[in-house]
Amino acid sequence: MTDKLHIIEVAIPLYLEKTFHYLVPERLQQVAITGRRALVPFGNRKLTGYILGKAAASALTGLKEIVEVLDSEPLWTAVELEFYRWTASYYQHPLGEVIRTALPAGINIQTRKGATGQQEIMTGGKTALREKFYLPAQTEPPHRQPGGKALEILAVIRDAGTISAGELRKRFGTCSPQLKRLVELGLCTAVEREIYRDPFKNITVKRDEPRFLHSHQKAALDAIAVTLDEGLFAPFLLYGVTGSGKTEVYLQAIAHALELGKNALVLVPEIALTPQLTGRFQARFGGGIAILHSGLSDGERYDEWRRIRRGLAQIVIGARSAIFAPLDKIGIIIVDEEHEASFKQSDGLRYNARDLALVRGRMEGAAVVLGSATPSVTTIHAAEQGRLTLLELPERVEGRPMPQVELVAMKGSKETISAALSTSLAETYAQGRQAIVFLNRRGFATFLVCADCAKPLTCPNCSVTLTYHRQRGQSLCHYCDYAVPAPGTCPSCGGTTLSELGAGTEKLEHDLKELLPTARVLRMDSDTTSGKGSHERLLSRMNDGSADILVGTQMIAKGHDFPEVTLVGVVNAEASLGMPDFRAAERTFQLLSQVIGRAGRGEIPGRVVVQALDTEHYAIRAAAEHDATGFYREELEFRREAGYPPFAFLAAFSISGLSEQTVSAQADNTARKLAQLKTELKVRVEILGPAPSPIYRLRNRYRRQILLKGANRADLHRLLSSWRHQATTVSTVRISVDIDPVDMM
Ligand code: ADP
Ligand code: ZN
Repeated sequence: MTDKLHIIEVAIPLYLEKTFHYLVPERLQQVAITGRRALVPFGNRKLTGYILGKAAASALTGLKEIVEVLDSEPLWTAVELEFYRWTASYYQHPLGEVIRTALPAGINIQTRKGATGQQEIMTGGKTALREKFYLPAQTEPPHRQPGGKALEILAVIRDAGTISAGELRKRFGTCSPQLKRLVELGLCTAVEREIYRDPFKNITVKRDEPRFLHSHQKAALDAIAVTLDEGLFAPFLLYGVTGSGKTEVYLQAIAHALELGKNALVLVPEIALTPQLTGRFQARFGGGIAILHSGLSDGERYDEWRRIRRGLAQIVIGARSAIFAPLDKIGIIIVDEEHEASFKQSDGLRYNARDLALVRGRMEGAAVVLGSATPSVTTIHAAEQGRLTLLELPERVEGRPMPQVELVAMKGSKETISAALSTSLAETYAQGRQAIVFLNRRGFATFLVCADCAKPLTCPNCSVTLTYHRQRGQSLCHYCDYAVPAPGTCPSCGGTTLSELGAGTEKLEHDLKELLPTARVLRMDSDTTSGKGSHERLLSRMNDGSADILVGTQMIAKGHDFPEVTLVGVVNAEASLGMPDFRAAERTFQLLSQVIGRAGRGEIPGRVVVQALDTEHYAIRAAAEHDATGFYREELEFRREAGYPPFAFLAAFSISGLSEQTVSAQADNTARKLAQLKTELKVRVEILGPAPSPIYRLRNRYRRQILLKGANRADLHRLLSSWRHQATTVSTVRISVDIDPVDMM
């Protein structure tokens, strides 16, 4: 790779199919090396491009010269480039865009117009290691006080003790004039510091020792260890209820990989990336751990990225984007909660990190362990077919029993809380124990309906009803944040009597307080957890016993252990069944199983009351009876009949724009073109639609979709790639193609 490259191939991070050739001037020939970025002329702009290597025999004339090489070290390895190429081809996405997604944002050159109108170039990376910090001054207050924003900023600085300029900018936007003024007034001082961010700075951890494994854990670990010794790709499904000891198996498998001199990549859903989880890894391994999560600033993320690239971390723990971590010698990749939809990126490069884990694992010759208490239907099927090795942990550690579940039919009832649930809640409270009540809908009422014209209040920008939030006194769109004062008047007829329909967590909290006036009720949903640290505060109030009942959305179903919870209530168990999505039953089963599993994690056995309109639905019944096998059998049958994954492969076209007519015309064109190509190529692909998307208007854009179903992946791929090469679109309409879509809305 160190040979001189006179003509190089460069990928550009734009929505362009092809890569480009450039000449390397004499002065840059030593440094224009594969894996580095180069500043290249493109049209009348200068852009950052990625050097892919020497151009294949180029007979081209009139090539332009690269302007600058931007890195002193390569940013990716040959295997990583192979991985990027695979990803680009599979997701039908430009290679330059894939590389841009894979690299940390902090690295990318930003060009911006300077004051002189000249192009000014800054690298985010250079500033990453030094940053300005502000401290409150110890001196006497001056005669002149600052006003407005400066005063607010000062309060934050005093509160924090020391705070970085970046953090202040995050909170206040541009604030250098105010900061300058505060320094001039002697109210605070600025220091520039070398920063090295420690992801563990807020937790103290006791070292712990590997547990003595029970027989199922031992069998699982042995199977993984054998493949680690061989150094060959081997995919596993580690299937075990929460609390069955999966994490312990991960930890010991990782320890084994480290002993062999290999590294470990651990992917978890963002929501699970808590200090508790990372603390467990630190307790076991001490240092050498890098953490990548969405809470990091670009600079912090870039720091972690460089630590990994330089080989200073042996274990990388992160959410979905960590699949691109620059870790070499990967011995094992773990995907915990593999069924989680959050492994799928929903815009730009729409990759699924769970699927890419298998691809990267194959390229690296690594063991890949997909872990879950409720694996996805597709994963179960792959295990049944022998494409994944099934490792089961059928029991909870210490043989704690699964909770008793009572199903309560709510048909014909107007109550939010049934008699059965309120009795159980009263008993649990009287015993001084804790309860969780789950309802997967936030807000007070689901929506408001006008008593005069019977129309529900809907969002003017999106085709959804507005959710009534009583505390905020607003009706709110959960998609675009449109808000109107509520209850208010009916926008259709001006009627003033608006009645509430359906209940959300806010209403449930209200009803519970009425039911048990002395009980301490907490609510956890995205409305109560938006502030920094509020999530942790709510959790700690549950953990230290200063709350009796926790009400919440799916947020309470995941990632936390509440050992003192002995009762779980589920209100409106079918809330997620009504979704126009073939995975609705699967999601409902997974969510209910998780919520039910929250009961009885400690010494005392738990019990669960599940309220549902239709207690006979197989997803609800199976979850209540802890009958996963029954659920998967029935669900696979449905998928086979309806021709959905795992028995078909999907790609979803989404066509959107501001004008309904243009969108509709473009959608028809696209479908016609696809049909024509299908005939030409003689591929077996079903083309469904175009049809309005379930949310047919979103943030003012009209949306249509076309769903492609292929019995075989190669056929689907061929059709998509020829469409891509021939697509003609109008600029006012956006067309995106989602391979293996997860969100069908
Ligand atoms: P999971 O990841 O499946 O939810 P964990 O690995 O977190 O399960 O295990 C649940 C609890 O049991 C943890 O507190 C863990 O430390 C403990 N544990 C796991 N395996 C063992 C074991 N073999 N012996 C004793 N305790 C164990
Ligand atoms: Zn809206």
